[in-house]
Amino acid sequence: MPPAVGVLALQGAFFKHIEMIQSLGISAAEVRGPSDLAGIKALVIPGGESTTISKMLLRWELMEPIRGLIADGLPVFGTCAGLILLADRLVNWNTLPRPGGMNLTARRNAYGRQIDSFEAALRLSVPGAPEFDESPFTGVFIRAPRILPDSLGKDIQVLCRFEEAPVLVRCGNILAAAFHPELSGDSRLHRWFLREMVRLN
Ligand code: GLN
Repeated sequence: MPPAVGVLALQGAFFKHIEMIQSLGISAAEVRGPSDLAGIKALVIPGGESTTISKMLLRWELMEPIRGLIADGLPVFGTCAGLILLADRLVNWNTLPRPGGMNLTARRNAYGRQIDSFEAALRLSVPGAPEFDESPFTGVFIRAPRILPDSLGKDIQVLCRFEEAPVLVRCGNILAAAFHPELSGDSRLHRWFLREMVRLN
């Protein structure tokens, strides 16, 4: 039986995603090559270094299959570098090979050197999900990308903003966070993605 969720495991922060999904009673496994994509119901693209992940997607012949699955509507959750790889446009790095799929512009490492990493209490506003109203969500930002507020296509739904900029967006079957929801020990966002976008659980 293939796992329900594949987590891209070429580089970066993939293990915490696997742990969090498994803690919700859903099977998850590493994706390292095209055969690992067979039968999965959702894909997570984790944080890490987007330039490295991009190179490895090409080397392991995952770029085209993942692009195809996204085009076919596979639910995808991208975090941090994952968001960069899902952005249709990038400031400065637009030639970076990536799957894309979200009609927005992102800027890598855009929160400045001084505040490379920080935590922020985020208010998520997710229609039909009262669990996010109960308490803020701790957003862990690590050399995070910034989504340019004026760059959003009509099909982008903003689920959270921080200092004006969208930090959690949905575009059809793609969910993307500029922060690392797998690192704060709060599984609400993973649970919501699996329930509402993947229809598991
Ligand atoms: N700075 C990284 C990049 O540009 C992203 C950081 C992260 O995923 N935590 O790819």
